[in-house]
Amino acid sequence: MRRLILFDVDGTLLSTNGQAGRAIGLALRETLGTAGPIDGYAFAGKTDPQIVFELTALAGLTRSEVEPRLEEIFDRYCSRLSSMLTPDNTRALPGVLEILAELARRAEVAVGLLTGNIRSGAEIKLRAAGIGDRFATGAFGSDHEDRNRLVPIARARARDLWGTDFEGPSTVVIGDAEADIRCARAGGARAVAVASSKTSREKLAALAPDALLDSLDSPEALEALLGTG
Ligand SMILES: [Mg+2]
Repeated sequence: MRRLILFDVDGTLLSTNGQAGRAIGLALRETLGTAGPIDGYAFAGKTDPQIVFELTALAGLTRSEVEPRLEEIFDRYCSRLSSMLTPDNTRALPGVLEILAELARRAEVAVGLLTGNIRSGAEIKLRAAGIGDRFATGAFGSDHEDRNRLVPIARARARDLWGTDFEGPSTVVIGDAEADIRCARAGGARAVAVASSKTSREKLAALAPDALLDSLDSPEALEALLGTG
């Protein structure tokens, strides 16, 4: 194993067409009576706990009021998510199935997740998109609220699983948001950005990722993930 490639979920691997945002809104209203200013709220690149704390703070709730209810919020969220996500609204993005198949054929490549989703939420989304069985490990929003802390967690799990230290740029983080590039940098990993969702190519380019793609369907995608920049 020479390279660990860590995929973001929303906007990189798949889209739920807004269903996941609706599910967290319902869970917040059911648990706390408010979802704060969720319409127009920018979810991109944020961890699930960060989203909950930001929205509830904007609704005037303190962290100490929200923290004891976090498990309840996420239980409701996952149960909503399971019933709301269907193959009609949740799909792998263009090029995803092909690139995962290509990476799986390469013995030197380990594939995992690096996502702000809580682990159970990521599993529900990936299953709905038909790619639930492709990722042996990863780091999640349920591991840490701060995305910038997730690369070392993913690396440690990958080492336990494959016995390899994926140091420095031998770890690659790919994502569609500015926060994905920042967390790659914070972890000393190679940053590959993909402008396949809400964040513009220009905004991503401003953070100077090691590679910048329009989509995982692009002919340069495999080289961007495997290259050393
Ligand atoms: Mg994303």
